[in-house]
Amino acid sequence: MAKTPPKHHPSIIDSFAIKKHNLTVGNQSLSQLAERVGQTPFYAYDRSKMTHRLRQLRSQMPDDLKIHYAMKANPMPAVVQHMAGIVDGLDVASAGEMKVALDTGMSAQQISMAGPGKRPVELAQAVAAGITINVESFNELEELARQSNRLGIAATVAVRINPAFELKSSGMKMGGGPKQFGVDEEQVPILLKRIAELELDFAGFHIFSGSQSLKPEAIIEAQHKSIELAIQLADSCPGPIRKLNIGGGLGIPYFPGESPLEIEPIGHALAKQMQRAKQYLPEASVIVELGRYLVGEAGVYVTRIVDRKVSHEQFFLITDGGLNHHLSASGNFGQTIRKNYPVAIGNKMNWPQKEIASVGGPLCTPLDLLADKMELSKAEVGDLFVIFQSGAYGYSASPAMFLNQTKVIEVLV
Ligand SMILES: *Cc1c(COP(=O)(O)O)cnc(C)c1O
Repeated sequence: MAKTPPKHHPSIIDSFAIKKHNLTVGNQSLSQLAERVGQTPFYAYDRSKMTHRLRQLRSQMPDDLKIHYAMKANPMPAVVQHMAGIVDGLDVASAGEMKVALDTGMSAQQISMAGPGKRPVELAQAVAAGITINVESFNELEELARQSNRLGIAATVAVRINPAFELKSSGMKMGGGPKQFGVDEEQVPILLKRIAELELDFAGFHIFSGSQSLKPEAIIEAQHKSIELAIQLADSCPGPIRKLNIGGGLGIPYFPGESPLEIEPIGHALAKQMQRAKQYLPEASVIVELGRYLVGEAGVYVTRIVDRKVSHEQFFLITDGGLNHHLSASGNFGQTIRKNYPVAIGNKMNWPQKEIASVGGPLCTPLDLLADKMELSKAEVGDLFVIFQSGAYGYSASPAMFLNQTKVIEVLV
């Protein structure tokens, strides 16, 4: 007997108000918002949801924890500007992102740059800007010192450690074993000695062990190990640890059967760990860097149904946007098995007529599938198909040039 498939956690769709069968985003009905934008497809991000998420998170976390926004999750300048007003710092992964971060007015002291393969010109830009540079290799450190000398500015440098542990049960592991990120834990003392010789301004550590975890125990364990690792390395440091970035990893539920992450136990455990940090690393600010957890649930992708057909007794809806704007929803951004994102017909919410349908985008590839046999309100050409959990790793993480289709528009409401 076939098992009934697990349902999506209801809170995601229910967290958006409905007016006369229309989904609302930022108090605007979706049909009207589509008119205002002037086209489909578009992304709409709700600023109040971002603010609310951050307020909720802060209420559960230790008061002195610094919360940074990892802007690669959603680099839209208006979003970054909004986030800059409510977080303690911005983490960038390129000089292009650094520009957007500095444009917000965020102080350079609260901006850090990570990422493998920083080019000499990017390092020079970062030094000139005065942001913290998380070095990821011995070569990079030497190049950073060259740029630092050339400019006559001592670069502020933190060491990105490739920890011996990993964030367990996470969507994307970024530590534990051979990795292209950071410097292996065992080699860090040698790198620290070199930083002292080069007379750079040592700021601390960056320890990022993984992403997209929904297991509080796993996050607690990784945070614990990160802080203990920094304490253990403190004696080898050329100066006091002022910044201790313990990564992020807080996930959001995308797929049926997943539940929202409980943050209360994380805050509780972190408060205890931070007591230890205070004792052994008295000058350290403890920082978490979060991307999707802060912005992912605040965004929707909206595309219009342009065709409706039947193939071998299965209903298909075809939309005017697809994986060219939203690669992750098609299941092709790092997922091993394709699963359905939460979706709805945004102008037919709570609609009495339902059907099982699949939804395909406009690209000539079977990969362009946005929903696979899901129960949806019975939809017609002209209706709006909405994908939730789309505030992070949407447009900027998609192959927008593929098939030269309509360009997507992003709005912050
Ligand atoms: C991608 C990334 C993040 C953000 O990850 P999320 O899963 O979006 O929270 C944070 N820090 C680093 C170093 C990253 O590479």
